[in-house]
Amino acid sequence: MKLPFRKSVSVLWMSSVVIILGLVAYTLFSLYTPAMPNKMQNPDMQESDDDLRDRLTPEQFYVTQQKGTEAPFTGEYWNHHETGMYRCVVCGAELFTSQSKFDSGCGWPSFYEAANDTNVDTQTDTSHGMVRDEITCSKCGSHLGHVFPDGPKPTGLRYCVNSASLKFEPKDESK
Ligand SMILES: [Zn+2]
Repeated sequence: MKLPFRKSVSVLWMSSVVIILGLVAYTLFSLYTPAMPNKMQNPDMQESDDDLRDRLTPEQFYVTQQKGTEAPFTGEYWNHHETGMYRCVVCGAELFTSQSKFDSGCGWPSFYEAANDTNVDTQTDTSHGMVRDEITCSKCGSHLGHVFPDGPKPTGLRYCVNSASLKFEPKDESK
């Protein structure tokens, strides 16, 4: 079936107008909605991936920025029993204290509570065919690990954390 010449010209004309309007709308939309980074980050703590790669080990970068998991029984802190504070390896936020650390036998540092209510965020993670509660540093968005409801008293929680997300600071006994 052949369209009359005038009709096909007007169809072409209409399609061009639609395409041009679409491009204009897309451009305006892109201008007003800056590309979202693929991780949540606090705007005051923006640090480029290159900078982070420079100061973190490859494993620290993989765990904190790409939500990786270190192999069990391999990290620096799963079998670590000193007194002090476990801070975020990326931003230094206080995350867990040695007081709440317990031997869970799972091969990762485990804590029954966070050091305070504000520095650790929890969100549902449905990756790898499982529903788990992911924990992240609320200051910089770094991935820490997961929290499970099978911990000891008094909270019944088990914060299962990658050593690679943490930097231990021993308690200064002289203070
Ligand atoms: Zn952090």
